[in-house]
Amino acid sequence: MNAFSFACTGCGKCCNSPPTMSLPELFCHRGRFIGCLAIGRVPRRRIGDRVRAWGHETVLDAADIAAFDSIAHTLLYRAGDTFSIMSQGYDYPSLARCPALAEDGRCAIHLSGKPLTCEVVPLDPLVPDQLQHLVLAGRNQSASYIGANCIQEGERTDATLMIAQGEIKDANARDALARRRRELEREREVWGHAVFESLRKDLFESPAALARIAPGGFLTISIVPALLAVAGMSAHCRQLCLNYIDSQLALIDRSIAQALLRRRLEDRPVTQELRGFAQAYYRAKALLATPLPAMGAESGPPSSLSNIEAYLSGADH
Ligand code: SF4
Ligand code: SF4
Repeated sequence: MNAFSFACTGCGKCCNSPPTMSLPELFCHRGRFIGCLAIGRVPRRRIGDRVRAWGHETVLDAADIAAFDSIAHTLLYRAGDTFSIMSQGYDYPSLARCPALAEDGRCAIHLSGKPLTCEVVPLDPLVPDQLQHLVLAGRNQSASYIGANCIQEGERTDATLMIAQGEIKDANARDALARRRRELEREREVWGHAVFESLRKDLFESPAALARIAPGGFLTISIVPALLAVAGMSAHCRQLCLNYIDSQLALIDRSIAQALLRRRLEDRPVTQELRGFAQAYYRAKALLATPLPAMGAESGPPSSLSNIEAYLSGADH
């Protein structure tokens, strides 16, 4: 019947890693989340493909493919295959928790800047609405949700009907999904395109480099390309980036120091990666010591620059 109900008790079970976050959200929580870029390869879909998730199966038709194409057109990047480029939090996977998850199992930033992506849970903004039941069917059986019983098949009296007949029935969920998609569109416009172009030659046009990203998989890299994309827009943007870099360097230092105390073998590659992030921040800091030539927004009207500054400062959220 493809209907699912949802009731979040705020148990924190799914808060087992840092979430994807917009650049302004990372700026806002710069002392809590280490930022990075996650580059994902989005599996290509064709008419007639069967998509299965735990007892649910859909054969994709022309309308499904048109909906996937529309999402790709507005939120993703084409380079042969389709790719996502998103900013997100980064931490040691061995901790298996989001840095905002408090000791009592609650979200410490629930009332002060909880990332929009957490409001969208358990939906996926990159999946067309009519196929979100497959997302819920998959998550219902995934380790992050098993035992929480927050996703249930069918219409329930003790939960909100989330999805039925290929539609998102819950108005709050529909609104959160729409806001997250608008946010992703804005991210693409403000820094995503510039990052995509800056990585085009060394990643997106290099079969050897791209082989590191399996279909459905991700590559994490430093967030510096996104910072450089916005820092050149104005003195204000540059200062936001410099403030962010200083906070991140201090946070990375603290994070590595704690990892060294834990003495876990599996933390070593992550420590190496964090040291790489720190090096990239130092290089960016040196580059930003003098103003970069204006780019991106300078050709637009002053209002577009002030809009971007307001966006990055979190003022238009
Ligand atoms: S696992 Fe389910 S109930 Fe627990 S916080 Fe996540 S969405 Fe809410
Ligand atoms: S920010 Fe809050 S709701 Fe989101 S994953 Fe972290 S603890 Fe969970």
